[in-house]
Formats: sequence, structure tokens, C-alpha cells
Amino acid sequence: MSQPVLVIGGGVAGSVCALRLRHRGVDVHLVEKERFPRAKVCGCCIGGTGISVLQRVDLRDWILAHGQPIRKWIGSLGGRSVQIPLDSGIAISRERLDTELLARVERSGAVVHSPVSAAVDSISDEHVCVTLKGLDGSVQAQKYSAVVLASGLNASGSKRMLPWTELPHGPFGASFFAKVDQWPTGVIGMACDREGYVGVVRLEDGRVDVAAALNAGSAKLAKGSPKNRILEMLERSHLPIGSIEVTSNVRVTPPLRRSRLSGRGRLVAIGDASGYVEPFTGEGMTWGMMSGYELADLIADSRGELLTLGEQWCLRQRQLLGSRRRTCRLLTSILQNSAARYGAGQLLSRFPRFATPLIAHLNRPPD
Ligand SMILES: Cc1cc2nc3c(=O)[nH]c(=O)nc-3n(C[C@H](O)[C@H](O)[C@H](O)COP(=O)(O)OP(=O)(O)OC[C@H]3O[C@@H](n4cnc5c(N)ncnc54)[C@H](O)[C@@H]3O)c2cc1C
Repeated sequence: MSQPVLVIGGGVAGSVCALRLRHRGVDVHLVEKERFPRAKVCGCCIGGTGISVLQRVDLRDWILAHGQPIRKWIGSLGGRSVQIPLDSGIAISRERLDTELLARVERSGAVVHSPVSAAVDSISDEHVCVTLKGLDGSVQAQKYSAVVLASGLNASGSKRMLPWTELPHGPFGASFFAKVDQWPTGVIGMACDREGYVGVVRLEDGRVDVAAALNAGSAKLAKGSPKNRILEMLERSHLPIGSIEVTSNVRVTPPLRRSRLSGRGRLVAIGDASGYVEPFTGEGMTWGMMSGYELADLIADSRGELLTLGEQWCLRQRQLLGSRRRTCRLLTSILQNSAARYGAGQLLSRFPRFATPLIAHLNRPPD
């Protein structure tokens, strides 16, 4: 390739993509607008499929050594308490995971610019023109052979280049860290009710991460602050929380559910920048890492013929993630219904093994 490939965004999707591109010998630049380590709204849990993807970029041993293993899911569902054993699963703070990934990208020989933000100006048959802006006010125009947009839910950096196919709507995310003395290690708690759902997990460093998807809509403001809504959901639930002290700012996201054209010519999108459903199945990081890895192979295999990369990627990404996203949509629409929540709570509290096929399906290896 006459020019390097640029990855915009150093979250899990962008970093895995850059790492794999380097493993395949491609010249890569990555720009990240935040100074790491940085927190972000996330439940911080990775299941079996995500661990398999991390293995492909040589991070399995690292995550098993530094993450907190998760062995049980406790749910408060339709007024019942549900307990389901888990075989695999890791909780790890995004500060730690994303910082390690980005450091590995840098060590792999990629050129990393951070904190620098990027914006795509134009796409032609030969290259993509991008403006890079540093915190010090410096501005540079650069050309790349292809650009991978991995800029997350805010999807900045793309301007109008990749139009929405489904505008952002639905629940929004909110999270904070808390001190919850009673909460055990190795257990994910999830309270689901009419307000949405909230997950609680103890991280590798002892902090408890509390992350929620809260129903939006016109009554949103009347319902109170995200922090109070989350605390009230936990209080109403059957989770054994005890006293809880919020120890950080509350971070919120825009509406979560969205999708967009994931490629056009030499510009492609992966991770949350290409679309998102909801966090209920805890797969967002896995989807981002899987697509980062696959896209890197598509780029490397193209041997510089990148004119139709976007169109090829639209097809490949649908094959890769289509059924996983559909399962997540189905589960979350069931959760919205109070009779279905009640039925699921009744069933799973008595027969938790009914959840085994679903968990195996979610943890299946990447195709
Ligand atoms: C409430 C909630 C709970 C969740 N829980 C889980 C969970 O338990 N497990 C799970 O796997 N997933 C979970 N997710 C989803 C997960 O957080 C995301 O799917 C995942 O972080 C997406 O990764 P990404 O790399 O696409 O984007 P991000 O991680 O958001 O990274 C994007 C990066 O791009 C940078 N950036 C943005 N614009 C620019 C620009 N113009 N120039 C340069 N850099 C830029 C940002 O600073 C950021 O670092 C949850 C989400 C929510 C909302």
C-alpha cells in the first residue's frame, strides 16, 4: 500500500484491528482523542467468545492473569431471584484493558497519535483525506490508503460519510463506580424491571462497576437523574446489595440502539461506530474485537486493492454479527414486557439449567 491505514479510536475494536493489521505486516497509524487510562460506560464483562478473540491477538494469558474471573450470574427478574452458574467470564476495568491494548498497539510498531482527534474530510478512488487535531491546537491534513472508523457510540470522525440506516434511539447507558462492601467477587448481579436493567460486578481492583441501560422516552426527565433511577432499581431488586456509596461521576451515553452503513469505498466502520443493540448480553466489546480482527484480515488479504473495501466489509460484517445482534434484539424485546419478565423469573428461579443453551450460544467461538 502506498499510504498507511488509519484507525480512528483506540477502544477495544480499534486496538484489536490495529494489532492484527500489524501482525499481518500492514503499516498502521492509530489516533485516539482521549488521554489513557480513561473510564467509559461499560459493564466491563467479557465472556468466552471475547476471550477467544483476545487469544488470537495473544492477550488471553494477560486477561486471565489480570481480570477477575466470573463464575455466577444472579438476576432479579419479574420479582424472583435467579442464580445461574457460568463457566467462563472475566470482569476487567476499561481503564486497564484499553490501556494495555493501546500499549501493545504501540509496541507492535504502529504509529499512535494521542490525544489527537481525527475527522474524515473526503474519500476518493486513491485515498481518504483526514484532518488530525492535537490538544495543543496543531492541525494536520493527511492521506491514508483506508480509514477504519472505531470511534464508539459518539462516532465522531465520520462527518456524514456513513449514513444511518437506523437512527440512535431506545435506552441510554449510564454507569458509575461504587463501594458495596457486601457484593461478592466473581458474581455478576443484574436487576431488570420496567425502568430497564442494571448490572453490578466487582472489578479486578476491588471497585464495584454499576452500569445500566435505562429506558428513555418523553418521561425521561420526569423520572429523575440516572443515578437515582439506578439506585432505586437496585433497592427494589432482590440483589443482596446492602449499603452502596457512589464513588465516581455518573457517565451517560447517547441512545444506544442504532445502525449505519458500515463501509463505503476506502472508509469502514467497526465496533459501536458501526451500530449497537443493547448491553444485556454483555457482548459489545466482543462484537467490536471480532470485527476489528476480521476487518484487519480483509485489508491484509486485499494486497492494496482497497477501492471496494467498504462494500466487501458491509457484507462480511453482516455475516459475522447478524445472528448475534438478532439474538440480543430478541432478548431485550422480551425483557421489555412485564409478563415475559415474570414468566422468565418464575422459570429460571426454579430451573436455572434452562439458561444453559442460551449461555452456550452466546459463548460460541467466533465463526
Ligand atoms: C451500560 C453499558 C454496559 C455495557 N456492558 C458491557 C459488558 O459488560 N461487556 C461488553 O462486552 N460490552 C459492554 N458494553 C458495550 C461496550 O462498552 C462497547 O460495545 C465497546 O466499548 C465498544 O468498543 P469500541 O472500541 O467500538 O468503542 P469505544 O470503546 O467507545 O472506543 C472508541 C474510542 O474512540 C475514541 N474516539 C472517538 N472519536 C474520536 C475521534 N474523532 N478521533 C480519535 N479518537 C476518537 C474515543 O475516545 C474512544 O476511546 C456496555 C455498554 C453500555 C452502554
